[in-house]
Amino acid sequence: MENKTQKILVIEDDPNYFVLLNERLSQDHSLGFELIRSKQMQSGLERLREGDIDAVLLDLTLPDSQGLQSFLTVHQAFPTVAVIILTGSDDDELASQAIAQGAQDYLLKGSFDRDLLVKSIRYSISRNQIQAQLQKYYIETEASKRALQDRSERFRSLVSNIPGAVYRFTVGIHGEGIVEFISDMIQEVTGEPAESFMGKDLSHYQDLILPQDLPMVKEAFSKAAVRGESFGIDYRIRHRGGDFRWVHDQGRGMKSPTGKISYVDGVIFDITERTKEKERFNQLVSYDALTGLPNRELFVDRLNQVLTQNQRKKESCAVLVLDLDHFKRINDTLGHVVGDQLIKAVSVRILKTVYNTDTVTRISGGNFMVLLPNLGEHENAENAENVANKIMMAFKAPFHIDEHELFTTCSIGIAIAPGDGATSEVLMKNADAAMHLSKERGKDRYQLFSSAITNNSFEKLVLENSLRRALERKEFKLYYQPQFDLRAGKVTGVEALIRWQHPELGFVPPMEFIPIAEDTGLIHAIGEWVLQTACEQKMAWNKMGFTDLKVAVNLSARQFHYANLVDLITGVLKKVGLDPRGLELELTESTLMDRLEETNATLHKLKEAGMSISIDDFGTGYSSLMYLKTFPIDTIKIDKSFVQDVTTDADDSAITQAIISMAHSLKLDVVAEGVETLPQLELLRAQGCDIIQGYLFSKPIPAADIAPLLADGAAKKVLSGMK
Ligand code: C2E
Ligand code: CA
Ligand code: CA
Repeated sequence: MENKTQKILVIEDDPNYFVLLNERLSQDHSLGFELIRSKQMQSGLERLREGDIDAVLLDLTLPDSQGLQSFLTVHQAFPTVAVIILTGSDDDELASQAIAQGAQDYLLKGSFDRDLLVKSIRYSISRNQIQAQLQKYYIETEASKRALQDRSERFRSLVSNIPGAVYRFTVGIHGEGIVEFISDMIQEVTGEPAESFMGKDLSHYQDLILPQDLPMVKEAFSKAAVRGESFGIDYRIRHRGGDFRWVHDQGRGMKSPTGKISYVDGVIFDITERTKEKERFNQLVSYDALTGLPNRELFVDRLNQVLTQNQRKKESCAVLVLDLDHFKRINDTLGHVVGDQLIKAVSVRILKTVYNTDTVTRISGGNFMVLLPNLGEHENAENAENVANKIMMAFKAPFHIDEHELFTTCSIGIAIAPGDGATSEVLMKNADAAMHLSKERGKDRYQLFSSAITNNSFEKLVLENSLRRALERKEFKLYYQPQFDLRAGKVTGVEALIRWQHPELGFVPPMEFIPIAEDTGLIHAIGEWVLQTACEQKMAWNKMGFTDLKVAVNLSARQFHYANLVDLITGVLKKVGLDPRGLELELTESTLMDRLEETNATLHKLKEAGMSISIDDFGTGYSSLMYLKTFPIDTIKIDKSFVQDVTTDADDSAITQAIISMAHSLKLDVVAEGVETLPQLELLRAQGCDIIQGYLFSKPIPAADIAPLLADGAAKKVLSGMK
């Protein structure tokens, strides 16, 4: 059994009775009860709203509420809290009415048998929990039953969610199978378009789909199909020069009310992709393959839990971001095998240094994160600093890897909740910022976030002030970076990127002022200007005949979560007179992972209005691939950090391949960002990437310079000039 304290709220006006109860129940700590008292219904309800009460002992005669109504008030407002009625010997009847309405038990006020009290409370709490779970279960199964009943709905969702060729046979009057439906993916398997199967006899399908050299399989399949039996085979086919592995997986047929088979559904999966994707997926969602540490997602989950608990207990926790100094140099000079072993050794050393209750994760390369869940009541920086010191000390001894004796140091950034951030996202971001500052200030040291910001704030203030005036003074400009479509061999889109020419400071990069604009709310005005300018430019390109060109605009988190976003964008589109289909919105993973429900609703509205959605910086956030399926998105942009080393780092090329495969199985386009060299382009092309964006093809440039790149054949000329 867990030894968590159970909080019991006693709503009772008689102080003597409470004192007696308290003596029996909470003086003995081993019982694990904590009693809290409210004298009236009103204050009792208020206390319940805090959400941490496990059970209520309720007196039915209170100054502000009487009788059965008292029970109903509590039970209806807090159905998951167990309620036990306290009653005098004379209102037995009332107590049993309350039980009939959902009270867990009743206790006679005159009786103070401790064992009886304890048992009653414990049983009531667990009974109530089971009831709540059952109720949830019923609601869920009812809902899924209803969904399953709608067969056509089910079939449609089957078709749209499965990365494979989905088919349906109907069984004709003579017992022959007829292809009623087959999805477009069949062309991938057989080379023949879906239409060529439709309405035809099974044998045509069989000839193309089943191995020629196995006549028995063919016969078994025919029988299974018309009898509506399930049928599965797993075989390799060679097609278009590739080596694919397919699983043919036919479900049981649906019977009509007369007992005859009316149709059979099946799917042909390409599991070449799926096995690869699954491996990658497993890594992404659970443990780091190299170190066996929990991955980022688990870490964030843990951190969120700790934050919620601590909020109640008014305790603080810390996040440490730790980065090996000069790790890249070790990798470059001694190779990845040694680099990987060093990372393993480092992770072991960190684990030995911290407590068992601390959580350690690896983010990438030599970058780790540590969660110290409990720093005590005050935001005790000292504890976190001690841990950072201990870790740095642990690095003083050399690491023995093969025949090498390696010395390495690390830089650590510390953020402490809630002062440095109350949410996991902010906390991790700030710990990371602190780590970077500790690198800037000489490496092999730690840096507290809280003292980091005070040092930067003056600079920020100056920027903030001039940022306020920048719009009026027309200091912003939009540049556009072309996106080259490898399939079409031409530029099919451009990304709008803001530029700020400050009169004294000169060019200020967006990475420096966008965060400030976010913090100060100036992002809304700036974002609207960007949107309007980009839309106007798109109109101009339309007039020049480049109607197929898409213009992508970046939306930062704060812009996206702004309540009126959809109205704002559709308003701008209307004002400019632009068809929404010409506009693409770029959002980062972390923006999307925030407030999932609300996000999904906003995305759907934007999609319905006709815009496309793309996920920016993909691979750097904390998103689970599963969520992607639920969002209505069109494009994934692989972050440039993966592209940078794609030709030299096996991990990175495995990641880009996994992202591309996964995106394609979800029918999304893939853009690779930051493509700077021809070998990168070739490798990404071989991996199936659809679109590239980066300095290789073009830097972000003024609008006027874009048009020449859009003309027929112009893009190809640029590329062939590079070969
Ligand atoms: P982003 O959305 O990831 O934009 C891509 C960044 O990569 C741009 O930096 C671009 O100049 C740079 N880049 C493109 N090709 C290459 C390459 O081959 N190599 C390298 N090393 N870099 C390349 P930029 O323009 O400095 O923008 C930085 C970030 O600022 C953007 O990242 C985006 O998050 C934000 N940003 C830019 N404009 C806007 C805007 O209008 N609104 C909002 N909300 N954010 C913006
Ligand atoms: Ca972008
Ligand atoms: Ca990006």
